[in-house]
Amino acid sequence: MTMNAQESRVVGGVPTGLLIGGEWRRARSGNELKVEDPATGEVIASVADAGPDDALDALEAATRAQASWAATAPRFRAEILRSAYEKIMAQQEELALLMTLEMGKPVAESKGEVAYAAEFFRWFSEEAVRIKGEYYRSPDGLTKVLTSRSPVGPSYMITPWNFPLAMGTRKMGPALAAGCTVILKPAEQTPLCSLALGSILIDAGLPAGVLNIVTTSQPGEVTDRLIDDARLRKLSFTGSTEVGKMLMRKASTNLLRLSMELGGNAPLIVFSDADLDKAVPGAIFAKMRNGGEACTSANRILVHKDLAGAFTERLSDELSKMKVARGTVTGAQVGPLIDQDALIKVTGLLEDATAAGGKVLTGGSRIGESGYFYAPTVIAGVPRSARIFREEIFGPVAPVYTFDDDDEAYSVANDTNYGLVSYIFTESFKRVHQAIDALQSGMVGVNQGLVSNAAAPFGGVKHSGFGREGGFEGINEYLDVKYAALNLS
Ligand code: NAD
Repeated sequence: MTMNAQESRVVGGVPTGLLIGGEWRRARSGNELKVEDPATGEVIASVADAGPDDALDALEAATRAQASWAATAPRFRAEILRSAYEKIMAQQEELALLMTLEMGKPVAESKGEVAYAAEFFRWFSEEAVRIKGEYYRSPDGLTKVLTSRSPVGPSYMITPWNFPLAMGTRKMGPALAAGCTVILKPAEQTPLCSLALGSILIDAGLPAGVLNIVTTSQPGEVTDRLIDDARLRKLSFTGSTEVGKMLMRKASTNLLRLSMELGGNAPLIVFSDADLDKAVPGAIFAKMRNGGEACTSANRILVHKDLAGAFTERLSDELSKMKVARGTVTGAQVGPLIDQDALIKVTGLLEDATAAGGKVLTGGSRIGESGYFYAPTVIAGVPRSARIFREEIFGPVAPVYTFDDDDEAYSVANDTNYGLVSYIFTESFKRVHQAIDALQSGMVGVNQGLVSNAAAPFGGVKHSGFGREGGFEGINEYLDVKYAALNLS
């Protein structure tokens, strides 16, 4: 890697340029993108603002590096990922602070995300050396079937702002392990963590051009230029269902391999036999992790009528005690929403829900005048037709719905186009199995409000997308299967 001070700056140890072909450089236009602290609305840094021509430079670099990267020994790729894992963990505190400054979540949560993000590099360093093929006899006994797996090729990754580090490593880990070169485009609100990650991977020995990073305020123009170029072979997108569908249509031109990690509208079901000592903390975690700004966030809390009173009271009590503050403040549990648009959206959903008959039990309003803080909120008695049940809330608001029996719970839970994750709380072994079968989601959390784990296949069904990140499945998103028919007679 070369770093030319005139071409690119470094702020607080983080490069602010584009990473292209192993060099940090400014955008061709010289434009810069401002990064805001959502707790204050103040600008904390400026980074290069790439245009479509810069993106093509990145694709050129990724294409040039592809063949030699694919030819490296799996162990070589594995050791770079392993070294990057260790470097991330060695900088856990600094990266957590950076994350909090650009995204807002409390530092303790940022530290958790740094460790979660690093795990994808550790996991895929272990998977890089286990890319397998098969060899077997065909049913008629006359030929042999030989399969092998090869990297898909240059891969473009678009990530959202809500998990600024982990959404990148969850894609890059398997892609790099498989032997694909990468162009990473982080969200415009949170480019700094990705730039820090780029620097770490270069320090870990990643060859020039294998990872390229384009930060931009024009995601549409930059992406269109890349998708239109036949050298790109894969698009992995995490973000809203709306943008994902639009990208799928565009990706048909060059028939790109696709992974789509899209929005969610998770139901959390508290069955009649649930243990409230598990269900209440589980619901708080599923709802309040990342301040509710997670695709996995519990969007609809469905509670059996026999437990509804006690559950709702305990949930409201706990949420009303949570400390809402700038993420750097000691003991902060809930940071600000990401921006003004998010605040307007959450406020609008609450207004619609109360107009429809919902009763606010705690919270229900913005906190303070600066930054985008919103009080942890519980609202009950909302009809199923309200927007808050149909749309992703993406904020610290918990709507509670009371059901009479299991069939009603499943019917309400599945009454959505989304299908990312569901959570259930029950002490019955039989119900656990029934629920896993009945719920239309890619993941089910049982008696816990967290499913994310580098060793597990993360992903959705229906309008939450397709493809899996993490687990044994994750690397296959970046591998093509090649089959040879062998006549050995
Ligand atoms: P978003 O779709 O607006 O943005 C996500 C990314 O897409 C950003 O990098 C953005 O720059 C880019 N983008 C926006 N418009 C684009 C365009 N026209 N062409 C190309 N790229 C474009 O979503 P958001 O509001 O930033 O993120 C929140 C969404 O992400 C939620 O819906 C959430 O559920 C989803 N999400 C899903 C997962 C998952 O794994 N399923 C994880 C995290 C977030």
